[in-house]
Amino acid sequence: MTDQDCVFCKIARGQVPARRIYEDDVCVAFLDIGPLAEGHTLVIPRQHFRDIRDIPPDVLAAVMTPTSMIASALMRTTDATGINVLQNTGLTAGQAVFHYHVHLIPRVEGDGLGFIWNAGKYEDDRADELQAQLVEALAAAKA
Ligand code: 5GP
Ligand code: ZN
Repeated sequence: MTDQDCVFCKIARGQVPARRIYEDDVCVAFLDIGPLAEGHTLVIPRQHFRDIRDIPPDVLAAVMTPTSMIASALMRTTDATGINVLQNTGLTAGQAVFHYHVHLIPRVEGDGLGFIWNAGKYEDDRADELQAQLVEALAAAKA
């Protein structure tokens, strides 16, 4: 499926310019136009898939495989001492471009980035219930 209006499809086809740093038959990696940090990179499949839920496993694997190589190259090339690997699925999670993409965000000590990570705590009953529901949902998905 190709979305005619999708900017990442256009980048993949070479119709919109991007600072490409890696490409192969399945994926393209390029610098994010609005970097959270120097070297902030996006890795996309050439084919249009909306998010983590509809990208087929073989394409997902083919996108993630070079991602580790790109992460290493980013750390060798920038001052980064860490990388956040991020994939936003859905508006609520901050997805703005609805063509599956993985963010590689280089991190340096004291860069002021970071996430609001308000760790919560489960009541035992709720954790039991949720665990059972998820195990069941995943068993059904595999069947
Ligand atoms: P999302 O919020 O969907 O996870 O992230 C979308 C990302 O795509 C943003 O970080 C944004 O800066 C980047 N982006 C949007 N349009 C373009 C574009 O035309 N070129 C490039 N290189 N990046 C883009
Ligand atoms: Zn697309």
